Amino acid sequence: MTDHAFMRLESARGCIQHCTYCFYTQHYKSVKYFSLPYVEKILEFARDNGAQQISFTDPNFNDRSDFSQVLQIMERFNDENSFQVFVECDADRITDPIAQRMKKAGIQATEIGLQTTNETARKTIKRAGNLKKFLRGIRALQSAGIEPVIDIMLGLPHDTVEDFKKTASFILIINSRITFSYSL
Ligand code: SF4
Repeated sequence: MTDHAFMRLESARGCIQHCTYCFYTQHYKSVKYFSLPYVEKILEFARDNGAQQISFTDPNFNDRSDFSQVLQIMERFNDENSFQVFVECDADRITDPIAQRMKKAGIQATEIGLQTTNETARKTIKRAGNLKKFLRGIRALQSAGIEPVIDIMLGLPHDTVEDFKKTASFILIINSRITFSYSL
């Protein structure tokens, strides 16, 4: 592998949420979590093959009940800061101590799905979550030095141009990077 070698890994398949527009909702009825020894094995493989940047493809990297042990394994593999890790997380579940541990485990940035702040649209697409907890999670990540990259979606049912402006203002207050997608 070359310098800055990049590797994609997977520690879970499927998602605990059920957003109506999502591929995972339609194709996976439950979540399959790969075992801790498996996670250990793929990290070992990544390290031994010179990976410097790792991206986990799991849709909600922090939703597993043994997430604390996953972080512990990652910390052990990353004790010399040899990996930069990128993940996708549920911000509502992130507190200050969790964010600090994520940073220690090598996580540099996390994609976070918000889609919209409009509660009617969120209910319609079955997007669970709580904006207060979401904000707490974003602040915890930022304080720990992890960059949150927030996904928002244009064209959701019941989301008007005014609603979209409100979502955009909310993210400006948070001061985060955004990625957009468009709902057909
Ligand atoms: S949280 Fe993300 S991955 Fe999970 S169902 Fe919703 S859009 Fe899909």
